[in-house]
Amino acid sequence: MTHYALAIDGPAGAGKSSVAKMLAKRLGYTYIDTGAMYRATTHKALKLGKNIEDPQAFSFLDDTTMTFKNGVLYMDGQRMDDKIRSNEVSNNVSIVASHIPVRNKLVELQQQMAENHDVVMDGRDIGTVVLPDADLKIFLTASVEERAKRRHQENVSMGIESDLEQLKKEIARRDGIDSSRKYNPLKKAEDAIYLDTSNLDMDSVASTIYDLFINVINTKESEEHGS
Ligand code: C5P
Repeated sequence: MTHYALAIDGPAGAGKSSVAKMLAKRLGYTYIDTGAMYRATTHKALKLGKNIEDPQAFSFLDDTTMTFKNGVLYMDGQRMDDKIRSNEVSNNVSIVASHIPVRNKLVELQQQMAENHDVVMDGRDIGTVVLPDADLKIFLTASVEERAKRRHQENVSMGIESDLEQLKKEIARRDGIDSSRKYNPLKKAEDAIYLDTSNLDMDSVASTIYDLFINVINTKESEEHGS
């Protein structure tokens, strides 16, 4: 059976996860938040006292399970929510995500998930590396100011300590590391549709993407049925 995939990439705070969640719900697809997988890996490494600068320190991933239920990541059977959104994890995750063994392992897991389900998957390298044949690829972005503001509001609503100016610096720093890493950097796939969400509300972004996606799927299905 063929499974459909919608890939959404972009920098931190561009609105990927809210848009992806809305789309997955509307389509009845599984939402895969790949950022949560890098965050959970960072959380576990810190908890185990690993040296996160060392690319070889992540062999624990071979015995780690990750699954998504209703858009929430479970690692080793445990629900991963606020723990992986802490400042400590946010400030270390881009280093962890730059290690080749970590990326190879998580990309493999993400590809397996997409083989077995219809998915909306968001991240940094979904359209370029994880799902190069996705049915639709979107690259979402917004200004650093707007993205920091959104993260700040998100943090406040989750009761996480937050400082807007600090967030701007951290987001810019994370963008820098994510875009300049040698292996699978944050990059728009050539065939991805570019959407700047700075002045748009997330409902209308989700509706635009929904219409585009349904159009692609309908075209594919009618081609398959020869009509
Ligand atoms: O999406 P989120 O901001 O939670 O992602 C956290 C970090 O995980 C990113 O800053 C990036 O370093 C890493 N990441 C990645 N590739 C992905 C998803 C996330 O490198 N596909």
